[in-house]
Amino acid sequence: MISVQIKKGYGTKIAGGPSPEVEPLEKPAQVALLPEKIPFVKPRLKVKIGDKVKVGTPVFEDKRNPNLIFLSPGGGKIANIDLGPRRVIKKVVVALDQDEEYETFPIFTEAQLENIERKSLIKTIMTGGLWSLFRELPFRDVADPDAIPPCIIVSLDANEPFQPVPKAYLKGNIALFEFGIKILQKLSQNLIISTSSDNSYVIEQLNSHVTHVCQGVYPAEDPGVLLYHIKKTQAENQTWFINGQDLLLVAMLLGTGKYPVARTVVLGGTLAREKKHFFTRIGVPLGHLTKGRTVNVDNSRYIVGGIFRGYSDKKDSYMGFYETSLVLIPEGNEKEFFGFARPGFNKPSRSRVFLSFFNKSLLPMDCNCHGEERACINCGFCAETCPVDILPQFTYKCILSDEIEEALAHGMLDCVECGLCTYVCPSKIELCDVIKNTKKAYYLEQL
Ligand code: SF4
Ligand code: SF4
Repeated sequence: MISVQIKKGYGTKIAGGPSPEVEPLEKPAQVALLPEKIPFVKPRLKVKIGDKVKVGTPVFEDKRNPNLIFLSPGGGKIANIDLGPRRVIKKVVVALDQDEEYETFPIFTEAQLENIERKSLIKTIMTGGLWSLFRELPFRDVADPDAIPPCIIVSLDANEPFQPVPKAYLKGNIALFEFGIKILQKLSQNLIISTSSDNSYVIEQLNSHVTHVCQGVYPAEDPGVLLYHIKKTQAENQTWFINGQDLLLVAMLLGTGKYPVARTVVLGGTLAREKKHFFTRIGVPLGHLTKGRTVNVDNSRYIVGGIFRGYSDKKDSYMGFYETSLVLIPEGNEKEFFGFARPGFNKPSRSRVFLSFFNKSLLPMDCNCHGEERACINCGFCAETCPVDILPQFTYKCILSDEIEEALAHGMLDCVECGLCTYVCPSKIELCDVIKNTKKAYYLEQL
C-alpha cells in the first residue's frame, strides 16, 4: 500500500454533512435520464413518448459512437421527453409500472470471466449500458473502448464534500466489489484502488486490494490529483477511472444479467432536515428524495452532484446518471440586518478578512458571493490551494488573451475541475469555469 501525501487543497468547514446512516426509499412513480447533463455525449433518441420500455431498454445512443448506449432506469412507459432550445434533449421521463419488466443480458461466473476475451467483455458492458461509467483523464469523457489504458484508478472515496461514503455503499457488497476488480483486471494490467487515509472502513475491509492511500484535504481523493502526484510518463495522462459505487453496478450487470438501477445517494446541506444516505435508484426525482425532509424556506438552492462540481437544478428535476448527491442550501440573497456590523464569524471563507478564519466549527454555507467579479489582486490563494500546482490566475490570464499554448504550458490539462480556485478567490473570478470550458473546447478541437 503506497501512501501519497497531497499537500494542497482546502479543508472545507461546511455544515450540513450527512450521517453514514442509510435509509431505503420507497419506489418513486417516475424516473428519468438527463442526456443534457452527461458531458460530451451527443444523444440520439431511440424511443418516443408512449413507448413501453423495460429496465435496460435502450433510450438513447451517442451520435459519436452508436455503440455507446444509455438504458432505461425503469420499466414502464415513456411519459415525457423534454426538449430545450435547438432541440437539446433535456430529459426522458419513464412512468414506472407496478411490476417492472427487465431486459436480460449475459451472466458471467468468475470462471467464465477468466476465459472471456477483453473485446467481448467490453462489448458486453457496452450493450449493458454501463460503459459510460468508465471515464478517461484528463478530459473526463467516456473511455475509448478501442484503447488500452495505461492504468485504471478506482476511487473509493467521496471526491466532493457530501458524497456517499464507502461505508454506506460497500456494506454487504465486498464480494461484489471483488468481482468488479476481476472485471477490471481483464481491462488493464495496472489497477490502482485508492482510498483516503481517514477511511479505516475501506482499509479494514479491502486491505489486500487497496494499492494507494491518499492523505490530504479536498480533493485529495480525486483520480486526477492522485495521477498527477504519481505519474512517471506522459502516456499515463490517458488513465481511466471509475468510482467505487459505479464499479458495483458493472459487477451487478455481469453477475446478474440485469441492468442495475440501485444507487446510494446523499441528501445534505443546512436546509435538509434529514441529512443522510438513501438507498434508491438511478434518475430518482429530487422531489421524491426531499419529500418531508427539508426545512421549509422560500429561497433554497438545489445543487446536484456536489457543492464544488455540481450544478443547480429545479425542485421538479431528477438525479442525473452520474450524480449521487443533492445538497440544499439557502440562496442567501436576503439583506442582512446590520450586516456591516457583522464581521463574518459564521461565514465560511478562505480569506482572513472574515473572523470565521478563527472559528473552528462547521459553518453554514449559502450561495451569496458577497460581491461581484473584480480585477485579480494577485493574492495567490488560488495557487496555494490548487492540488495540481497550476497557477490558476496566470492560466486564466493566458486564456483571456488567447494564449492557449501558454495555458497548456502552465498545466491547464492537469486541472481536475475541483472548483477550489473559484471558491477561494476574493475577487470572485470564475477561474474553474473558464479553465474547464477551455479544456473542453481544446479537446473538441483535437477530436
Ligand atoms: S485550476 Fe482550479 S479547478 Fe483546476 S485543479 Fe486547480 S484549483 Fe482545481
Ligand atoms: S485567488 Fe483570485 S484574486 Fe487571488 S490571485 Fe487568484 S485569481 Fe487573483
